[in-house]
Amino acid sequence: MATMKALVLKKIGEVAMLDRPIPEAGPLDAVIKTTVALICTSDVHTVSGGLGDLSDRVLGHEAVGVVHQLGSLVKGFTRWETALPSTR
Ligand SMILES: [Zn+2]
Repeated sequence: MATMKALVLKKIGEVAMLDRPIPEAGPLDAVIKTTVALICTSDVHTVSGGLGDLSDRVLGHEAVGVVHQLGSLVKGFTRWETALPSTR
């Protein structure tokens, strides 16, 4: 299984760079290879326990990257295209 490095909340107040499996894109998904990411105040709030115990959560949702893998039904994007993902 191929892995990637991810900044993970190990427990409230403790983070570490850990290996995580590279996700597989579902039919309507795109997997983005992060090239730049930052930590925002939401991550700081998460690490301090402000959202409860979210141990094992990957942090760093503010990211820019390139399209690594596209789902079979995704249209309008190409592999290695620059991407600015958003979360809901
Ligand atoms: Zn944020």
